[in-house]
Amino acid sequence: MTRTLEVDLGDRSYPIHIGPGLLHDPVLYRPHIRGRQVMIVTNETVAPLYLAPLRAALDGLEVCEVVLPDGEQYKTLEVWNRIFDALLDARFARDCTLIALGGGVVGDMAGFAAACYQRGVAFIQVPTTLLSQVDSSVGGKTGINHPAGKNMIGAFHQPLAVIADTETLDTLPQRELSAGLAEVLKYGLIRDPAFLDWLESHMAELLSRDPEALAHAIRRSCEIKAQIVAEDELESGQRALLNLGHTFGHAIETASGYGNWLHGEAVGAGMCMAADLSARMGWLAEADVERVRRLVTCAGLPTEPPPELDAERFRELMAVDKKVLDGRLRLVLLTAVGEAVISDEIDQDQLTATLSARRP
Ligand code: NAD
Ligand code: MG
Repeated sequence: MTRTLEVDLGDRSYPIHIGPGLLHDPVLYRPHIRGRQVMIVTNETVAPLYLAPLRAALDGLEVCEVVLPDGEQYKTLEVWNRIFDALLDARFARDCTLIALGGGVVGDMAGFAAACYQRGVAFIQVPTTLLSQVDSSVGGKTGINHPAGKNMIGAFHQPLAVIADTETLDTLPQRELSAGLAEVLKYGLIRDPAFLDWLESHMAELLSRDPEALAHAIRRSCEIKAQIVAEDELESGQRALLNLGHTFGHAIETASGYGNWLHGEAVGAGMCMAADLSARMGWLAEADVERVRRLVTCAGLPTEPPPELDAERFRELMAVDKKVLDGRLRLVLLTAVGEAVISDEIDQDQLTATLSARRP
């Protein structure tokens, strides 16, 4: 059942292992650990579930851990600094390895710490949420939030391996599972109409955590992400397609306070807004907008931004987004279901209409 994909980045290429029971397989870790010192970065929810089996897999090494508080609201400079406190307390050297055990928050923070500690140390991702298995653990984006904007401080730092144990999803809350499905839908929407068809007909299995269905969705998502990252590692072009729904979504997340809307929920609503704007600009058929909204709804996600977030505030928040170049807003829009483009030629009146619209 285990599948291994490769992110092709020349001498920084790395494997993504996907399958059940991988978390406690020592063989997967050993090739990537050079020194003897390993720091596991995790959080207070994941630690009681999975820290012991991971520690067992690392038997014989000098293993320490840092357990962070749980939540997007803790993805801050202050909490991030605790990782360095732990590394320095334990006198970790440059040949140490950081392992992120948890969802995207832990992965982004641990990865960014690995990018910075002694100017860069080895790093392994052990993602335990659907969202982190299909998205955040792959591709090397790491970082933390600033009160003024999400992920505003960070670095590119590729892991040496991604070990995605699909059995860890058994303990994931249903709301988090749905949030992960937002990113899965995203891959179908930007690149793969056939995958989108498959998702449409297997949504019930995915929501009930059928292991085969989940494994397929994770593999296909990682394949698409790995391909896009290999083509454009530092996001000078096509990688930005992965931000479908994210500029709207980040504004929703910032406006509602980190942690109130899950990232995937905001992306779900954001993708519906991107579809809406695409249709208003004449690029996408109205029937396709409805199809996107139906898929997002079936995945258990919201299709509308919060009612109190008006167009003016939306614009302010979107202007902070990293996708703004030379003061021009760039958005990912759909030209068909399964095909997306990056555009900075946004019709401002249509954008206002999308930002103010609330469909029934
Ligand atoms: P998360 O890390 O907050 O995890 C969601 C919740 O599930 C948390 O409460 C966590 O403790 C809990 N959890 C994790 N694994 C569990 C398990 N197996 N069983 C039970 N509970 C478990 O959220 P997320 O959705 O994984 O990640 C969102 C973050 O990822 C955001 O900060 C977002 O910005 C970031 N992100 C980064 C990238 C990237 O390319 N670096 C891409 C997408 C998202
Ligand atoms: Mg995302």
